[in-house]
Amino acid sequence: PVPVLAIDGPSASGKGTVAARVAETLGWHYLDSGSLYRLVALAAMRAGVAFDDEAGVAALAAGLPARFEGGRVLLGEGADRDVTDEIRSEACSVGASKVAVLPAVRAALLDRQRDYRAAPGLVAEGRDMGSVIFPDAGLKVFLTASAEARAERRHKQLIEKGLAANMENLLKDLQERDARDAARPVAPLVKLPDAALLDTTQRDVDEAVAFVLDLVGR
Ligand code: C5P
Repeated sequence: PVPVLAIDGPSASGKGTVAARVAETLGWHYLDSGSLYRLVALAAMRAGVAFDDEAGVAALAAGLPARFEGGRVLLGEGADRDVTDEIRSEACSVGASKVAVLPAVRAALLDRQRDYRAAPGLVAEGRDMGSVIFPDAGLKVFLTASAEARAERRHKQLIEKGLAANMENLLKDLQERDARDAARPVAPLVKLPDAALLDTTQRDVDEAVAFVLDLVGR
């Protein structure tokens, strides 16, 4: 079977950056599963469907007209709207975390995620890559960092973009989302026994990438 490297971990742990760089180095495909939940949240807001309307949101998730192209995320019939920045907004972050608790929404996104598995390999990143989507992945990593370190990184990113940011609020939001991810009955975020633990509280991106590549044997 095509090899899969599953990287799971909490919000703002740096797994997106690490996963993308590892995929590029290996020449493997890359799945950012969180962006699917973010797209579903955006589609729900556009359609005026409430985040807790399970059937309504699941229907949107099942027919999600989205495409990934050269690092951009496109949404719409004909995939004509570039929503790359919009899905990173605070509204979509909170919305994604809310729609992600709904079992029917998670089920609607199953096949779509599994379809990313293609030669020569796949780096898949999210919360349930190693537990639900690719349980047979040969390599599993749990990438985390302290909540304070994660909030600080997000704070720095926002300031660099010239956006307003408040450490206390960021920390509170992260902890709320972590709690929702950990507490939901379906596909909760857990550190699997067969996953290698990578704590980046004291490591930079280069070190984290090197750690993962070392696991892969490159
Ligand atoms: O990883 P990211 O922060 O972009 O994910 C957005 C939200 O989607 C997360 O807060 C999480 O609740 C949800 N998610 C999930 N399962 C995944 C990926 C993301 O539940 N595999």
